[in-house]
Amino acid sequence: MSGGRHGRFRARTAIRKRLPWFLINLGVADKGKTDCGEHEWYNAGDGVAHCYHCVVGQKPYDPADFIQGPHPAS
Ligand SMILES: [Zn+2]
Repeated sequence: MSGGRHGRFRARTAIRKRLPWFLINLGVADKGKTDCGEHEWYNAGDGVAHCYHCVVGQKPYDPADFIQGPHPAS
């Protein structure tokens, strides 16, 4: 009865730190179904980039689309 709760909480924390895109995926249901007209790309993994704003915004991942500004990317 007392063994599992602490470990379970730690596991959830670890997931949130390691998978930031998980939060983005939570918002997929709210994406527009038509072209938003101003795609902003994120790396969805597997060599595919998706648009934050719409579901039709998908294309092969290209690092050139991810402009590295004055802030370090990671
Ligand atoms: Zn878009």
